[in-house]
Amino acid sequence: MKTILTISALTLLLSLGFFSLMNTASAQEARSAEDMDAIVKLDEIVQLSEHVYRHGQESNVFIVTSEGIIVVDGTCTPKGAQWFKEELDRRFGVPVKYVILSHDHESHICDTQVFSDTAMTVAHEKALPHIVREGRNSAVPQLLFDETMEIRLGGVRVVLYYFGSSHSDNLIQVHIPDEGVLTATDVVRAGKGIGLPDYRDSNVDGLIDVLTSLSQLENVDIVVPGHGPITDQSSFGYYRTYMIALRDRILDALAKDMTIEEILETVTMDDFSDYGNYDQWLRSNIISMWDNMYRVREPNADTKNMYDAQYPIGFPLGGDGQH
Ligand SMILES: [Zn+2]
Repeated sequence: MKTILTISALTLLLSLGFFSLMNTASAQEARSAEDMDAIVKLDEIVQLSEHVYRHGQESNVFIVTSEGIIVVDGTCTPKGAQWFKEELDRRFGVPVKYVILSHDHESHICDTQVFSDTAMTVAHEKALPHIVREGRNSAVPQLLFDETMEIRLGGVRVVLYYFGSSHSDNLIQVHIPDEGVLTATDVVRAGKGIGLPDYRDSNVDGLIDVLTSLSQLENVDIVVPGHGPITDQSSFGYYRTYMIALRDRILDALAKDMTIEEILETVTMDDFSDYGNYDQWLRSNIISMWDNMYRVREPNADTKNMYDAQYPIGFPLGGDGQH
């Protein structure tokens, strides 16, 4: 036994030494193994409740009933929409009857046209012009609604809500009230987190109002973000508190005539440093919030310098910009 342990320890030391000498190649291999694991999870199908499933962690939900399937986004994953379609057929043997588009952003709705042979595509009415104008690689919605819509299929009730302009002017949320599942695409991250990398294509006050509405919705046990692990309604409150503080601190700084460079130095949001994505997204959050507030407020008149005002077009945002 003693000999075996000694040999094992020696083997371990040699392995560690070898590993450090081969650091570049080994680190790359280790990273790619991790990446591969994450990529596999992006196509993992997990059941959340009796009829509701999730396809991957960068995705949304689908609802399986005896009369067919309702897919909410869920196609922009490594194996792709065609694989997803075939997998749904193999597992459940009923056709996709409805495809619901959470909003017009292509990273959520890509290739949804693969279901058009059996499914009607549903979206908020304001999503349609964006999808057409931008030439999105997606199904073109056929069923449009304004405030709310209800779909009943195979005895399952699915409610679609539009709470106004927030992240995009056409973001909707999908609720399966009898099973306590709510989608919250692009407005929240699991736990205590910053929900969005930046506020491009966002109405800041509308987004804060949506977070309030979602946090107060009844019959919600599971919240499914458009990105990352599932969570619960407490995450809406965390993000809302952060957003209000960020907005108000930047407004106060603008009222003191601070430049964006001064704001980046002084509005550090240290009291939110335990939020997920704080290190990664703070800079892009500050710059894009400043850009938003710059557009919605009128500074006091400075008649001497008013023609020297700088409009912030072209200021680098930083961050990964994906939402
Ligand atoms: Zn988005």
